[in-house]
Amino acid sequence: MKKIIAYILAAAAVIALSLAVLAADAGATEDRDGLKSRQEEVHAAAELLRSLGVAEDDPAIKALSDEWWRCQKLKNAKYLGTYTVTGYDLWCAHCQGRWVGVTASGIPPEVGRTVAMCDQFAFGTEIYIEGMGFYTVEDRGVGPGKIDVACASHADCYALTGRYKVWVVNEGSGRPCGS
Ligand SMILES: [Zn+2]
Repeated sequence: MKKIIAYILAAAAVIALSLAVLAADAGATEDRDGLKSRQEEVHAAAELLRSLGVAEDDPAIKALSDEWWRCQKLKNAKYLGTYTVTGYDLWCAHCQGRWVGVTASGIPPEVGRTVAMCDQFAFGTEIYIEGMGFYTVEDRGVGPGKIDVACASHADCYALTGRYKVWVVNEGSGRPCGS
């Protein structure tokens, strides 16, 4: 019985440590070395959990795995600079006019994936917006230095509006608009 309690306490401590690893400022790890060491930390925390018998589908392991992949993708990403990010409501006729529910690329839009950028970026280009996540360029209508993020509501648009650091993760293969 004592052994089991010690085991549970150890597991709880490791889960707390893993969550602390995830909560650490991800913004401080933009450079390759930072991303590499963060991956090592995240990997070590996940291995510890596994060694204690925590299942692969456990939320703690899943969060660590997501963080490992975020670092992996960012390691080879190209830093673009700081962009002005705004949101647009895909389903609002006032915001979208005749484009309501449609993207310029013809792909059905999806909140959490679709963004609009200028035609310097081919359709299908995958970007990373600091603190927000990965998105795909599927729409147009904004100028250089700007990103419009597909949102489900006006409140969501206002909530995300700001200046963010942005990276290109994968160049799109789709033809830039107008070429
Ligand atoms: Zn609107």
